[in-house]
Order: sequence, then structure tokens, then C-alpha cells
Amino acid sequence: GLFLDRIDALNPELNAFITVDREGALAAARAADARIAAGTAGPLTGIPLAHKDVFCTEGVLTTCGSKMLANFVSPYDAHVVSLLKAAGVVSLGKANMDEFAMGSSNESSHYGAVKNPWKLDRIPGGSSGGSAAAVAARLAPIATGTDTGGSVRQPASYCGITGIKPTYGLVSRWGMIAYASSLDQGGAFGASAEDCALLLSAMTGFDERDSTSLERPTEDYAAALAGPASARPLEGLRIGLPREFFAEGMADDVRATIDAAIAQYRALGASTVEVSLPNAKLAIPAYYVIAPAECSSNLSRFDGVRYGHRAADYGDLADLYAKSRAEGFGAEVKRRILVGTYVLSHGYYDAYYLQAQRLRRLIAQDFQAALQHCDLIAGPTTPTTAWALGEKADDPVQMYLSDIYTIAVNLAGLPGLSHPAGFGADGLPVGLQLIGDYFAEARLLNTAHRFQ
Ligand code: GLN
Repeated sequence: GLFLDRIDALNPELNAFITVDREGALAAARAADARIAAGTAGPLTGIPLAHKDVFCTEGVLTTCGSKMLANFVSPYDAHVVSLLKAAGVVSLGKANMDEFAMGSSNESSHYGAVKNPWKLDRIPGGSSGGSAAAVAARLAPIATGTDTGGSVRQPASYCGITGIKPTYGLVSRWGMIAYASSLDQGGAFGASAEDCALLLSAMTGFDERDSTSLERPTEDYAAALAGPASARPLEGLRIGLPREFFAEGMADDVRATIDAAIAQYRALGASTVEVSLPNAKLAIPAYYVIAPAECSSNLSRFDGVRYGHRAADYGDLADLYAKSRAEGFGAEVKRRILVGTYVLSHGYYDAYYLQAQRLRRLIAQDFQAALQHCDLIAGPTTPTTAWALGEKADDPVQMYLSDIYTIAVNLAGLPGLSHPAGFGADGLPVGLQLIGDYFAEARLLNTAHRFQ
């Protein structure tokens, strides 16, 4: 009730939720009360949560931020949604997002921009901007998100909360509306690393319905946070600082905040070593070939026939497809589909797509080489604090460039976390990114937990 009341009071201004499921939430809360009374509750039983609207939720509108799915009530739950239901989590509703998770500012949503709770004229980040704003404004204590190219870590950074994207394959993509399948990965938002640990533990697990789901025993990340009480709990931890991340491009105030946070890590006992990611600067061009290529294929299913938006007036079948897609998709989605079909077309495939795949491999190799010298990598999550609503809305390339520190991690399939590190000159939150080797989620969460 408390969170629903806060949503009623604050969501009209913030626009963090597309759908509020009041009845469903109250019913789930009553069921959770019964479990608590029966002594069968888990750590998340009765905890309210916001689901990014990319996750299919049975009986509840699932729009993916698009007009295309404005009338789509999913007949089934995503794997993540079922796991969290089974854990007794109370879903409050569906969080706003960039259309089909394409964007860095949440401005491409058909349902309007989300405001950053720290300063209402700023963007919350994207594409999981609604999830991050909801947690930052305490409309929900935890939220799910997805991170194809930074969409959990970047909005967490701009909204002053913690967000983790796990190793590719740890969270099932079944029922998570696909953007770029080889990069898409579910992730968790919370006010702290501890909250993220609880949520992530409940989201992971093998799922035979996702061919890239990894068959590994689930970990209890929250239990792994316990450690000896010591003034220098990170003694022995080697943190790598990529030379390329600490070069030009990072705003001065972000730099000062990250430097201070690194100094705090040293005070906690960690040592630092310079490492190099020479191909990291190629992450954006590689990503903006691979992601649109995959999206052009994934989004071909929205044809106005089986479900989703259908044009009211059309001639033949081709006209039905064309008009339904022209009306249902927004500008950024269309731009990506056009780029994607272009780079995959005959005669260009070798020059763009194949080349981008090569870069992807080089980037992954860079991380492996750097991780020979350190236990995890630290740097900024974003080059600046949150920019003003509208500032980059008409300049897609400037928007793409803001993802410089987050995207390489997706191309490599590695886990990454962003936690609050302090504030910039404008008083807005600055996030510090920790990147680990495959399956280093526990280490990332543990390290962030010590910092907090
Ligand atoms: N900003 C990136 C994009 O627009 C990443 C989005 C995401 O991670 N879903 O594609």
C-alpha cells in the first residue's frame, strides 16, 4: 500500500510506470502475507518490485515502450517473472523504457519521457529509465531491467542507485522481448549492492526455453556478501584501471568523483594497477552494426498479423505489413531496422557485419588480457552526469557516444555493475562501474557492498 500510494502521488510527474497493477499487487501481497504466516517465506516474499515493460507478464499489458504493443496483454510470464512470482515478489506494475530498449535517455518511449527524480529537467538514462527512476524515487525498492549495451548500468548511474548486468546467459531471455539476442541480458536494480544481490539470486537459473541459458547451479549472492569485519576488507583485491577510460572524454567532475572513489577502494585495502583495453574505442561502431543487425531480424515478427498494432486501412498483405510497421514503430526503432537490414544485405555483409564480429572478438580478448593483471576492472559508468531532457534527442550519434564505457562489456558477455560513487558539479549522481570476469557476480557485488 505504501508504495502504491507513492506511485499515485509521484508517478504522474515522473512517468516511471507505464502500467500500475494495483489489483494484482494487492492480491500478491495478501498471498505473501499468508506465506509469511505459514513460515514458508523467502527473503523476497512480499517485497514490491517494478518490472521493466520488456518482460512479458501474464494478463498484464506488456508494451515494450512501443505503440506497436500498446494493446498487447501477454498470455504468459517471462521466465524471470515466473521465478520472481515463485519467490513471492509483489509486482507493482510495468516500468517505462525506451521503445524496444533502443535508447540511452528513455525519450524514445511511446509513453513519454521519464524524469530523473534528482532533477526533473534531466533524463533518467535508458533504456531501463523507468526502472531506475522508480527505485531512485522509492516508488519500488527493487526493479528488473535489461542491459543490451548498458541499459541497466547507465540509468543506475544517472539515478544514483546500484544496478548489475550479469554474465551473458545467466538470466533466461525467455519472455524478454528481444532486441539484440546475442547481447540482451536481464539485470537487477536496487538501492544497494545487497538489494541487487537478493534480486539477482532470484532471477538466475537454467531455462531450457532459452538456447543460450547456462546450465549452472544458482548462487546465493546475498550470502556471499558476508565477510570478516576488518578495516581493510578488500586487502588483496587488485583493481585494474583501464588507461583508455581515464583519458579524454570523461568530464572533469566525473573524473574527480571516480578518482576519490578509487582512493576509497585503496583505503579499504585494494591495490590498483593500470591496464589497457586498446580496442575499447571500437565498441560503439561494432555495437551499432551488430545490435541493429539483430534487431532488424528480431523485429520482423511485428507484422500486424498475429498480434500488436494493425493499420486500420490497407490494401494487400504487403500494404498491411508496411502500414502497420510504419504506424507502430517510432523513429529510433525505424532507424535501427534500416541500418540493420543495410549491414546485413548482400555486398555489405562482409564489410560491416563480419568486420564488427571481428572487432567484438578483439574487444573480448582485450578484457581477458587485462584480467590477467587484476581481479576486476573499475572506471566510470558514463562520461558525464545526466543531461537535460531534449538535449540529445535529435542527435542520435551524440546519444550513442554516451555509451562508450558500458557497451564493450556486453560485446564481451562479461558481468558489470554500477554503484553510486558521489556527485558531479551539478549535484547529480556519478556511478562507478566494476567489470569482472565471467561469473564474477559475487565478487562485483561483494566489492560494491564494502564500498557502501
Ligand atoms: N543505449 C544503447 C542502445 O540504444 C543500449 C540499450 C540497451 O542496453 N538496451 O542500444
